[in-house]
Parts: sequence; C-alpha cells; structure tokens
Amino acid sequence: MLQSKLFTKTRKEAPKDEVAENAKLLIRAGFVHKEMAGVYSYLPLGLRVLRNLENIIREEMNKLGGQELFLSALQGKEIWEKTNRWDDRVVDNWFKTKLKNNAELSLAFTHEEPIARIMSQFVSSYKDLPFSAYQFQVKFRNEARAKSGIMRAREFLMKDLYSFSRNENEHDSFYKKAKEAYERIFASVGLADVTYITFASGGSFSKYSHEFQTICETGEDIIYVSEDKKIAVNKEVYDDKTLKDLGLKKEELKEKKAIEVGNIFSLGTKFSDAFNLYYADENGEKHPVIMGCYGLGVSRLMGAIVEIFSDEKGIIWPESVAPFRVHLLRLGESSEIASHADSVYAGLQKAGIEVLYDERKDASAGEKFADSDLIGIPWRVVVSAKTSASGKLELKNRKTGEVKMINEEDLLNHVK
Ligand code: ATP
Ligand code: MG
Repeated sequence: MLQSKLFTKTRKEAPKDEVAENAKLLIRAGFVHKEMAGVYSYLPLGLRVLRNLENIIREEMNKLGGQELFLSALQGKEIWEKTNRWDDRVVDNWFKTKLKNNAELSLAFTHEEPIARIMSQFVSSYKDLPFSAYQFQVKFRNEARAKSGIMRAREFLMKDLYSFSRNENEHDSFYKKAKEAYERIFASVGLADVTYITFASGGSFSKYSHEFQTICETGEDIIYVSEDKKIAVNKEVYDDKTLKDLGLKKEELKEKKAIEVGNIFSLGTKFSDAFNLYYADENGEKHPVIMGCYGLGVSRLMGAIVEIFSDEKGIIWPESVAPFRVHLLRLGESSEIASHADSVYAGLQKAGIEVLYDERKDASAGEKFADSDLIGIPWRVVVSAKTSASGKLELKNRKTGEVKMINEEDLLNHVK
C-alpha cells in the first residue's frame, strides 16, 4: 500500500486522558481511535493486526473441529433470568436497553445462554454429539475501570468457543486439546515465554478454571508463578489448599503482575439444565450435555502484544501479526531513486509480500524514520541516493536493530 494514500497520520502526542502505554502507541501510530474511555475504533492498520490475530486463532479453532457462527449481540431478558444472570446484583457490568414496547434487552457480555438455547433445538440424540462452535464477536461490558487501553475495554472483540460433550471423559479430552490449541496460539504471536497457564477459581462444576496469563507490568492480575513447572496460581485461589492440590511449594513461587489473555472453563450442566439441552443415549435414557467455554480476548491480546513488544520509539510487531511485513522508505526525489524504489516495491508485491511503501514527497527522511519506528513493521527497507549509488538496499530489522546492506536479489530471502 502507498503510504501517501493511507488516510491515517502518525501523531506526536496521545490524548491527554490516555494513560495506558498500549493505547498511547496505537493512537499515535494511527492503529486505533479513542472514542471515549474504554471504547476504541479500529482504523486500517489496527484492523489488519486484528484480522491477522483472528486468522491465527481461527485456524486453531478449525483444527479442533470448531464450527464458526456469529450470534447476535442484542439479547432478550428472559434467557438470562433462567440462569439468574439478569439481576444487576449478580452481573454488575450489563449494558441494558429497551424496545419501543418496553421489552427489556441487553447487549450481551457473554454467550453461554444464547448458545445453549440454540443447541437445544439441534441436539436430541447421542449421535448429535460431541461438537464445538465458536465465534468472533463484540462483547459489551460496563467495566467500572477502563485504564488499561484496549486491554480493558467496554466494547471489545472476543473469540468464544463452546464445547458440547456426552460425558466428563469426552469433555476432558476436548478441554485438553483446547488448552494445547491456546498454547499454540500464544506461541504463534511470540508470547509463549511470558504466558503461563494459571489455576483460577472454577465454579460449581470444577475446582479450577484455567487462565492464560501473560506477565506484564501493567497487567491487572496478581499471579504466583513457578518458572520450573511453567504454571501459575491466580491470587484469588492462592491458598494452602491449592498449593497442596498442585504440590507446589511457597518457596518456588514468584509474585508477578499479569494480564489474562484467555480463560477456559468447564461449565458442567449448568446451562444445559437451564435450557433443556438434553440428549438420549443408546438406551433412550436422557442426560444433560456437558459444556465447556473457551474465551480469548482478541483485542486485549493485541494490547498485550504492544505492551510487551515496544520500546521508546514505538511498537515492535511480531512478524505473525504485523500489519505489513516490509516498510519500504523512499528517501529523495530524483527519478533514479524513485524508479529504483518503485521497482523494489513491485518486486516485493509480486512475491506476495505485504509492503507499506512510504513514497510521500512532503515528509523528511527524519520523519519517515520516526514514523517507521513508531508503526513497528518488522523489516524496513531504505532506497536513497546512497543505496542507489552502491546498487544495494539498506535493510533494518525493527526488533534487533540490525542494519545490513544487501543486494536486491537477497531481499526476498531475508524477509520471506
Ligand atoms: P477479567 O478477569 O480480566 O475481567 P474475565 O474473566 O471477565 O476477564 P472472560 O469473561 O473469561 O473474562 O472473557 C474471556 C476473555 O475476554 C478474557 O480472557 C480476556 O482476554 C477478554 N476480556 C474480558 N474482559 C475484557 C475487557 N473488558 N476488554 C478486553 N478484553 C476482555
Ligand atoms: Mg478473569
């Protein structure tokens, strides 16, 4: 894409009321626009990152056999009353509204109730099970505090997967596979080393749930990490009983701040009981379906990536999620430089590499370098009078800072 055509521009300052580093950088670099506290719009660069994350996650969900769907955000009051979740004293972050005839509605903060009700229309026999379904959907939560930028928003993108099994064994084996899929997702985005599977409070059907907590100074959770065992315990269940359950010793645990990027949960029969999600076994006997839910905050993950992968100059995108792979900078206006840069651009595009080409005439070299560091595309390629004279290109890696002069033929080998 030609940078002169990109309607977003970088800016020197973030809005005064923005305190979170992830949002400051994303706003300054033109990835998101802040509508109000806890509400962000995604601009072209930001949407490219979000879509890359979605695709990484979707691929793993499909490997699990998950079937993609898209549920409505608007939901009526009745189904939440069935599980006692409509009451504001039980769920304190509802956004509620009304129809013209005064019927009460809400913007869903999660989708266990709607999906259980839908599935009750399709499941009747053991032959219909097991299966799983997922969506990428905007969730609405009236969060009390919204100081963590896109990591805690009032409107945010979540991937939620739900599993439907005949019995505990079948559920456990899916749960294990889902856990592994999550591990692969966090590895793909470069967060494997700092993301811990964390024991957190369960519910009436299981002792613990599992959170995926990414160590991060600005995280809102406190966890106790065992680096040796590569697991952690959330402060909410950090007691002698939990440590004994897991064999963990207080000496070996370190207190860390972390951000919860994912959460997987055994739901048992809570929702299937409420919505008559039953199946008949081989003998015609009826049983409730065993459910699990598996949440992952896509936009929160984007924020966590920025918190972790950035420096004083800007963002440092991991290659798997970067909005473009190469940032091509043309410095100088001579026709020789211009045609050289144009041909590099064409060559990269032909090879299927996504390039942001900074061919702006009204920006200085200094501005182009600063913008490039701020936007954080993994590879920067410079075409200038100097490089054209030597017949080479200057290639810089945003992460390592390493600079190389290379032949045009070698460029593809480096950035592919
Ligand atoms: P938290 O404990 O951080 O409030 P939660 O336990 O309420 O999150 P879940 O209901 O399990 O979160 O939602 C699944 C995932 O959605 C979370 O793991 C997180 O990644 C993401 N998420 C939850 N709340 C927000 C939010 N306000 N903004 C952005 N992402 C969120
Ligand atoms: Mg939580």
